Amino acid sequence: MTAIAELAAALAPGKVLTDPDVTDSYARDRTFLEPGKPLAVVLAETRDDVVAVLRWATGHRVPVVPRGAGTGLAGGATAVDGCVVLALHKMKAIRELSPADEIAVVEPGVITADLDRAAREHGLMYAPDPSSYEISTIGGNLATNAGGLRCVKYGVTRDSALGLEVVLADGRILNTGRRTMKGVTGYDLTGLFVGSEGTLGVITAATVRLRRAPSVYPATIAAEFTSLRDAAAAVAAIIAAGCQPSLLEMLDRATLKALDDWKNIGLEASTQAMLIAQADGADGPAVSERMSELCTANGASFVAVSSSQQEAEELIGIRRMGFQAVERLGKCLVEDVCVPRSALPYMIEKIEAIAVRHEVTITTAAHAGDGNLHPVFIFDQDLAEPPPNVWAAADEVFREALEMGGTLTGEHGVGLLKRRWLSMEAGPVSAEVHLGIKQLFDPLGILNPGKAV
Ligand SMILES: Cc1cc2nc3c(=O)[nH]c(=O)nc-3n(C[C@H](O)[C@H](O)[C@H](O)COP(=O)(O)OP(=O)(O)OC[C@H]3O[C@@H](n4cnc5c(N)ncnc54)[C@H](O)[C@@H]3O)c2cc1C
Repeated sequence: MTAIAELAAALAPGKVLTDPDVTDSYARDRTFLEPGKPLAVVLAETRDDVVAVLRWATGHRVPVVPRGAGTGLAGGATAVDGCVVLALHKMKAIRELSPADEIAVVEPGVITADLDRAAREHGLMYAPDPSSYEISTIGGNLATNAGGLRCVKYGVTRDSALGLEVVLADGRILNTGRRTMKGVTGYDLTGLFVGSEGTLGVITAATVRLRRAPSVYPATIAAEFTSLRDAAAAVAAIIAAGCQPSLLEMLDRATLKALDDWKNIGLEASTQAMLIAQADGADGPAVSERMSELCTANGASFVAVSSSQQEAEELIGIRRMGFQAVERLGKCLVEDVCVPRSALPYMIEKIEAIAVRHEVTITTAAHAGDGNLHPVFIFDQDLAEPPPNVWAAADEVFREALEMGGTLTGEHGVGLLKRRWLSMEAGPVSAEVHLGIKQLFDPLGILNPGKAV
């Protein structure tokens, strides 16, 4: 019996796909990276399916690439030659939603926004909301420690993860964490697995924290600026003033122009940047007013406040479409640097100068309230990978961010794309510790090899 026949025999019919036309469609994420050729794709429907795949993979020394929805922007779910892509999107049960304990127990394939919608039926919300939340999975969010728009107030995915069920490389099942609000028994293994990008184990269930949803949908502020640097200065001022936004996003002119060309948003000729902000909670109106004042004081040419929930939601919707609009301009190398928030205006200046010096089109959108910038380097659609000037510009952006006390990736993960820069941020001792942990959980190196560490 061949190894693949053995795998197929261990699972119910139809779960192992080997037709290259089909397996290729599970091989890439949203990056330009050219994937390897998978041996097979497994459509897992239960934890036992995952156990069977990992036991088989350990026995045959076959690499396994876990995959949620494939919306990743770092190449984490990119197939490697001869691997099995372990697709988890069919494991999409919300097993439990407890309003009394404000928790939910979910399978990894649950779409992020579906969990949020289910929680809202009970006056709760699932706070982490990547812009991709209508298409990404909770498993992918956990594996990348995804951020999002509301994270400026409610924290990133790790802040909502209480406990995990993980299938280890050899098929053993590890339960981490708890379903209580507090708990310090043992090391924080939940924290370790969140953000481990499928390199330590496969997440098959998660207990996540829900929060009270605001009773009223907050008004949305849209502030226009004639300079991107001014918009960044307004963000720094809002944070320094102690305002607590529940959302504080920034879009540069290139992103707004791409949105305008696609969706006709009525962009003014003089607008170089826009801030979009919300403040929920009882003091929301006062915080919104203060944020509007600070925008004006920092050079906003126009500040508008939404007059209805529909208008407020439409503005947020525009922000969420920013990346899809930019993808229409060409192939994209998406960066994800995060800097201390006071450094935001300086980082903006650096990015603008780098774009000019290397003659590269860079669009920038930002979860600005977190200091998390997404400079997107656009290159020719016909090129397989970025030309040298794009790599050089990206390299400079990383160096500048690290120089300011920032980090290479605020939320997308290292994946394949940022490994070349990893040693710039993590020194040799950190690298040694990471490899020691990897060796402990995955001694044969079969879990998502070549990614993250
Ligand atoms: C339009 C758009 C907007 C985006 N906006 C944001 C944003 O605001 N914030 C943000 O953080 N990201 C954003 N992203 C990136 C992406 O959506 C996130 O990284 C998301 O968390 C990936 O989820 P996924 O289900 O698509 O995972 P995939 O892309 O399939 O996988 C991502 C990584 O997780 C691993 N993985 C997946 N499932 C599991 C599992 N069950 N167990 C172990 N490992 C697993 C994979 O191996 C891979 O390393 C955006 C992407 C797009 C296309």
